[in-house]
Amino acid sequence: MKRESIWNKYTKEQLKELETLSKNYRNFLDEGKTERECVSQIVNRIEEEGYVELERIRREKKKLKAGDKVYAVNMDKNVILFHMGSRDLEEGMNILGAHIDSPRLDIKQNPLYEEGDFAYLDTHYYGGIKKYQWVTIPLAIHGVVIKKDGSSILINIGEDEDDPVFFISDLLVHLAGEQMEKKANKVIEGEALDIIVGNKPLEKEEKDKVKAGILKILKEEYDIEEEDFISAELEVVPAGKAKEAGFDRSMILAYGQDDRVCAYSSLEAMLQVKKVKRTGCCILVDKEEIGSVGATGMQSKFFENCVAEIMELTGQFSELALRRCLANSKMLSSDVGAGFDPGYASSFDKNNVAYLGHGMILKKYTGARGKAGSNDANAEYIGFLRKIMEEADVAFQTAELGKVDAGGGGTIAYILSLYGMNVIDCGVPVLNMHAPYEATSKADLYEVKRGYEAFLKAE
Ligand code: MN
Ligand code: MN
Repeated sequence: MKRESIWNKYTKEQLKELETLSKNYRNFLDEGKTERECVSQIVNRIEEEGYVELERIRREKKKLKAGDKVYAVNMDKNVILFHMGSRDLEEGMNILGAHIDSPRLDIKQNPLYEEGDFAYLDTHYYGGIKKYQWVTIPLAIHGVVIKKDGSSILINIGEDEDDPVFFISDLLVHLAGEQMEKKANKVIEGEALDIIVGNKPLEKEEKDKVKAGILKILKEEYDIEEEDFISAELEVVPAGKAKEAGFDRSMILAYGQDDRVCAYSSLEAMLQVKKVKRTGCCILVDKEEIGSVGATGMQSKFFENCVAEIMELTGQFSELALRRCLANSKMLSSDVGAGFDPGYASSFDKNNVAYLGHGMILKKYTGARGKAGSNDANAEYIGFLRKIMEEADVAFQTAELGKVDAGGGGTIAYILSLYGMNVIDCGVPVLNMHAPYEATSKADLYEVKRGYEAFLKAE
């Protein structure tokens, strides 16, 4: 089997499209460093493109017909889009699913304390991280504070040129003899990931003068009291913008590309496809990094409820029709895969790994230790996809996450497969996945977006 980079196959026109897509993608990353920020920019975008909120259609007692575009938002952290097809829903939908949460540090509910004239915010990390990667880099705080009266204060500090940033300290190398002997997972422990937020004491205070100074600023600049942290969702993420990487600018280095690279390309594909026979659906979920739990994760009934609602609005709902719709659907569970890293070659199987710049990945299975926890895509379904991708001239590669027994990971694929639908893991290779800055190839972004378009058009 031939395996090669796709860069030299592009026409001038395609390269232009690729650069535009990658520029817009970088903006999407900059504007969406949390699931809430992603949902809010996605809603703005799709409303411009003619998507209407499901609730509104229900309220106005309208019906849905082929060509209509609807969306539903769940708790500001999860959004689903439907592009109504001309076929009955019972025949199934073509579904793209990706997640918009990423590993990060969450600020605890009682976070603010002072020690050695520093004010700190205590954090509890979210998702799988190598903790030592998060020290000594500039960090930003994004999120929302909900006041007792229900009003909310949006927080985004550390991204503007003039904004302050925050950081976690590390021990100077001169004194780190003992620390350097520790195992990597003990070098920086979870409870040590507290961010430094100040060092200037407030005059006239008796004790905790620095903390008092921070509280004064929080009150004056943001109208936040210490107790308001109780009802806040504040996420600490790497500060700064997504960048092009390499002299040849062939890659993108940025925070949160797992899995916003698939979320963004899925969204673009949904907006690009003008007409569909099978209803197109795009699910962008939260909580994937901690097991797809909770009301906004893939395991929530939100998706199923939305499908029931749109069936009702087309006059096609029955319990049985809903089950048939789900079982007859086809899905690309769009999530990133591990890109081959020559620096760590022994962790991969060279013949069954994804390479940056070789196109979209199709992963028959994921999982760990003999594929435990995996969805295992049917050979027949993969055959169907091969044909579609070849006809649309989309470059794809097949891959596993890494060498057998080297580790493993999961996605949302297995959850949708429970409906009896065909699902496969599919996506973009990433280098240094889950690190503060992850790398992808612009060419893979371009191919995967084209692949998703071809899939949505498939009958
Ligand atoms: Mn992922
Ligand atoms: Mn992940």
